[in-house]
Amino acid sequence: FMDKKLAVVTGGNRGIGFEVSRQLANFGHRVILTSRDPEQGKTAAEKLQSEGLDVLFHPLDVTDPASAEALAGFVRERFGRLDILVNNAGILQDGGADAARLLDADLDMLRTTFETNTLGPVLVAHALVPLMQGRGRVVNVSSGAGQLADMGSGYPAYRVSKTALNAVTRILANELADTKILVNALCPGWVKTDMGGPGAARTPEQGADTVVWLATLPDNGPTGGFFRDRKPIPW
Ligand code: NDP
Repeated sequence: FMDKKLAVVTGGNRGIGFEVSRQLANFGHRVILTSRDPEQGKTAAEKLQSEGLDVLFHPLDVTDPASAEALAGFVRERFGRLDILVNNAGILQDGGADAARLLDADLDMLRTTFETNTLGPVLVAHALVPLMQGRGRVVNVSSGAGQLADMGSGYPAYRVSKTALNAVTRILANELADTKILVNALCPGWVKTDMGGPGAARTPEQGADTVVWLATLPDNGPTGGFFRDRKPIPW
């Protein structure tokens, strides 16, 4: 028997985040599907509700501290605690420029990407990790594009932001090492979403698998790791 756990998913209105919300709810958890666009988020949550799933909507823009605090207030008052945070929201603004160089990258684009992909998860963790009261799971949806061990070319803003998100993962995991809060990052693989494009090899269902696995780890599971297909990969 497993208690019903409460999960927050960022960027839940489409893509991998929507599918993670579905799978976590299917697993028996209660999911707060969040999205920066209220209409899209509500529509997405209603779709999962119509499948009989325990999903509710709350707005969250991961770049807005007031928005994160409002969500934290909602969770605190309505449920008292939080078990799972999936930092899924992300942007890729380098465009299709797979030959683009960091040397040429627009500073505003770098800033916006970093603010969303790297500082977003930090900001949301600031608001929500205290609600885990020493036991929970934080899952950062990162990317192989951020791997220092295999640093390819192109997508400079996106790469920098995901490498830094991996560093955030390690640091948070260390800071929480004496708790039962496990903090891990993963690469979902190349997934058919608006970001991944129609040529991607994986379905959102496949992309969500390792996210959900990390979100539902037992207390003795790994922390401070980077995974793909449920297996550790180099940083
Ligand atoms: P999508 O572009 O389909 O979805 C991105 C989601 O992030 C949307 O819900 C979007 O909301 C949300 N988002 C963006 N900015 C914000 C913000 N400021 N506040 C709240 N939500 C925001 O991408 P994917 O589903 O493919 O990507 C999900 C994650 O997986 C990302 O972190 C991505 O980097 C990672 N990833 C994806 C890969 C792929 O092949 N698809 C490969 C490797 C990693 P909105 O609809 O309002 O824009």
